[in-house]
Amino acid sequence: MIGKLQAETTSKLHANRRVGVLRFKHNKQRKGLMRIDEEAKIVYVRQSWLKDMLLCPERSRLSVIQPEFKTTNDSAAIGTAVHAGIEAVLNDSCSLADAHEVSLARFSEMEAEGVRHTNVEPSTWHRHVVGLTNAWVKDIYPYVPLGGQSEVKFVAPTGSSVNGYQLWFEGTMDYVTEQGIWDWKTSARKYSSLEKQTQDVQSSIYTYAGQTLGFIKGDKNLFNFGVMVRTSEPYGQILSVSRTKAHGEFVIKQAMSAVAYGFAMTDGTGIPTSNRWLINDQHYLCSERWCPWWSVCKGASISEPDNQLEVE
Ligand code: SF4
Repeated sequence: MIGKLQAETTSKLHANRRVGVLRFKHNKQRKGLMRIDEEAKIVYVRQSWLKDMLLCPERSRLSVIQPEFKTTNDSAAIGTAVHAGIEAVLNDSCSLADAHEVSLARFSEMEAEGVRHTNVEPSTWHRHVVGLTNAWVKDIYPYVPLGGQSEVKFVAPTGSSVNGYQLWFEGTMDYVTEQGIWDWKTSARKYSSLEKQTQDVQSSIYTYAGQTLGFIKGDKNLFNFGVMVRTSEPYGQILSVSRTKAHGEFVIKQAMSAVAYGFAMTDGTGIPTSNRWLINDQHYLCSERWCPWWSVCKGASISEPDNQLEVE
């Protein structure tokens, strides 16, 4: 059922359409960017792009004009590898016992392409990939309803428009059953239920899309995070947040504001100019370690000595 809906919706939308990214001269969409279909007058928003814009609009601009700075960091590579093992289990292409082998093979592919060291000691990378995959097998898999579908791509209309363009959401759901949507995360620490319930963007967008496309049933749905926590003894945490019509309405407003900002800051050309967008350093990812564009942004003004406390 889900596959049929997905295939129909996707084929109707993408047939013979010229698609650009902020009218930037690349046909292939870069992950995390707002995508514009000029002929259909549709702007597609992914949850990752919206989260980036809310965090630091300048980071979004730099990701378009200086993509060469963006590399895969160790935390992200570990997460991608663990996803591969989980997906193989859910697609019945490997057993639970072999899941960590699939994860390790995926990690080795990324290592060959280059993984940027941030805060995970490289000698522990493989151990984390195996440990986190096994944490999913042990602590999360037994609670996941079977019979669902993994890696479900979606595009969903919001019914709202910005600057004459319809706003649609797009993305990929890790796992869907009629009872709800699941997303797999790897994290250095346990998730906060209250923070996710009150502020999470992804669950609002995905639940809205799941309801709109008929993937899930009911007006009030649970969105489930299967979190694998990266400690010396990795473990799994299942955190479920509830999402209603109200959450869908709010996240559409939020996306509209970000898209309007994106249009305004491109002088109507769609191409980011050399003018900086809002520079927000008020979050923990604004650091030399976590922001790939640090050296051409905050790091160009503030160096380590400037950040030293004179009085402890
Ligand atoms: S260095 Fe900080 S302010 Fe600059 S782009 Fe990165 S996150 Fe944003």
